[in-house]
Amino acid sequence: MSVGIAWLRGAFRLDDQPMLVEAARRCDALLIVAERSPGPRAGVHRRRFHLGSLAALDRALGALDQGLHVLRETPGDEIPRLAERLGARGVWVGAAPGSEERATLGRLERSLPETCRLHVGRDNRLFDALPIEAGDWPMSFSKFRRKVERNLAPDPALDAPAALPPPPAGFDRAPPDRQADDCGIFAGGEAAGRKRLDDYVFGQRRVLRYKQTRNGLLSFDDSTKFSPWLANGCLSVRRVWSEVERFESGVEANQSTYWVKFELLWREYFRWLMDATGSALFRAEGLADVPPEWRADAKRLQAWREGMTGVPLVDAAMRELAATGYMSNRARQNVASFLVKDLAQDWREGAAWFERQLVDYDVASNWGNWAYQAGTGTDTRERWFNVIGQARRYDPDAEYLAHWLPELRELPSRDRFVPWKAAAPVAEYPAPVVEDPRWS
Ligand code: FAD
Repeated sequence: MSVGIAWLRGAFRLDDQPMLVEAARRCDALLIVAERSPGPRAGVHRRRFHLGSLAALDRALGALDQGLHVLRETPGDEIPRLAERLGARGVWVGAAPGSEERATLGRLERSLPETCRLHVGRDNRLFDALPIEAGDWPMSFSKFRRKVERNLAPDPALDAPAALPPPPAGFDRAPPDRQADDCGIFAGGEAAGRKRLDDYVFGQRRVLRYKQTRNGLLSFDDSTKFSPWLANGCLSVRRVWSEVERFESGVEANQSTYWVKFELLWREYFRWLMDATGSALFRAEGLADVPPEWRADAKRLQAWREGMTGVPLVDAAMRELAATGYMSNRARQNVASFLVKDLAQDWREGAAWFERQLVDYDVASNWGNWAYQAGTGTDTRERWFNVIGQARRYDPDAEYLAHWLPELRELPSRDRFVPWKAAAPVAEYPAPVVEDPRWS
């Protein structure tokens, strides 16, 4: 009887799970494990999503007469002990981008019993390999996209297994905790992710208007909202891509359907960039030679985190983030630019705050985008956003501002953009921490 362990690390789905399929093929009994929490730096939104995802995965496994064992300790400590106890011949796990994530696998491999091998597969990305030489990195997104689009189609997603070997006999597994009823605006788990994918593409056909709506700030359907499920491994990016292509060939293809794939290439780019540059993206200077200049100011940083800078678009977005764990891409660019360029704070403070707050936190996309915004990525051009002009352009009736900043609701909409200039300023709302002459 050969026993194996499949560790579904940050990959809470059955679809497109090559390592699970491989483990199932090679073993007569299989213990399927996942980590209890998304890690010490995750805040409440990601924790809740993680819990919901574990519970959903356990239910899906139940339909195949299997179940999830939730690790009570760190994987590096518990998995080797489980392997020893079960006499497991192998541990199958998907990779993850990021230097810490890779180091965890190295430690795990060293602690496994001699008779147990670690098998590491790919992570949640589109391509198995790229037509790019190692020496060509780091390269810009445009160059990456041109090389990839010209030469390559994403590798196909693997179907979910129709059957699995049973759990090891006599093993008393620890199932997930009961899921909290309140799941915020995103419900964790593969079924919820697939439902969103189906609704957005085939159901509501919003994918046909993505390019026009993607910069909207207020409505849930302005963009796909696939990110929480992609980042937490509930959706396979290959499945998302192939569903968009199925829609394009069976229903309609237009600039918007292409643009969803274009954005997925950004996600892909940051993963390969992080692979190629190791921990360099986390340094103050990132991939650039010179770090941006900043003067650490705890009060400014705190005002930014709390949504109390007195600059409405920034405050609305930061409060949305705290309340929901989400913020649109347009708002993310603005608050990042404001922190780095207007408040002159260390960009890594912003990235670390996002790491805690975001429900869709993804190490490569987060640190890659922050570095890009701070000018420490592969493109060091000045990227300053006029946060007042952007609010006027993307929230012309100041509805997003009114939604997240109740103090400003009574003001006429034109005054909500610059409340300190209103005839009767609102006492509860702060004056702007900084003012830039370019705003007007
Ligand atoms: P859509 O606009 O519908 O895009 C579809 C998908 O494409 C997204 O789900 C995402 O997987 C991918 N995508 C879109 N834009 C980007 C981008 N700029 N970079 C990488 N992938 C992209 N995205 C994360 O998934 N996790 C993060 O931790 C994260 N941190 C960010 C930090 C900053 C400072 C900025 C500017 C952007 C960050 N993004 C991050 C990228 C982007 O903001 C989110 O992916 C997007 O807002 C998620 O909403 P959506 O699924 O509706 O995106």
